[in-house]
Amino acid sequence: MNAPMTAAPVAAKKLKVATTSLAGCFGCHMSFLDIDERILKLLELVEFDRSPLTDIKHCGPCDLGLIEGGLCNAENVHVLREFRKNCKILVAVGACAINGGLPAQRNHLDLRDILEEVYQTEYLLGRAGIPNDPELPLPLNKVHPIHEVVKVDYFLPGCPPPADAFWKLLTDLLAGRTPTLGHGLLHYD
Ligand code: SF4
Repeated sequence: MNAPMTAAPVAAKKLKVATTSLAGCFGCHMSFLDIDERILKLLELVEFDRSPLTDIKHCGPCDLGLIEGGLCNAENVHVLREFRKNCKILVAVGACAINGGLPAQRNHLDLRDILEEVYQTEYLLGRAGIPNDPELPLPLNKVHPIHEVVKVDYFLPGCPPPADAFWKLLTDLLAGRTPTLGHGLLHYD
């Protein structure tokens, strides 16, 4: 695992864990759930804060934050900063969080051109066109990996990382070890 080993390992205790998806597809969360019955053991060892698994809307003080997805809009940046502020250890999970992943394919195109292309049917029908409701988060001109905005402690690569990689990361942290991925767990696709 490629990581700046700056975070102190967590002592063996029940970890408070938060997870979220920014500009991602939830595939990393689905892979996490592929730990299958080990999730019962995990729930004896961790407590979930904000996560799609709990539907808690804001991240409170946590030992560990797992971030899936990169940054494609202003809300993503806000959520990421909230996680960084509240999580002792922050992990970039998956290709989208680490390098922008598939959403970053739009980075070689102009944002307005993309929006006009996507909503051209609305233009042709004489309707509103590109949505501009103030409730919608403003899109960023480019999709960014999360390490460009906040400090990241560990990187869990893969699209998605395999379930066993999630398990190894969590069990290492629970045991107070610096996480390392063994043979076969380091994926780049
Ligand atoms: S890394 Fe892959 S699986 Fe994870 S959010 Fe991105 S596209 Fe989905």
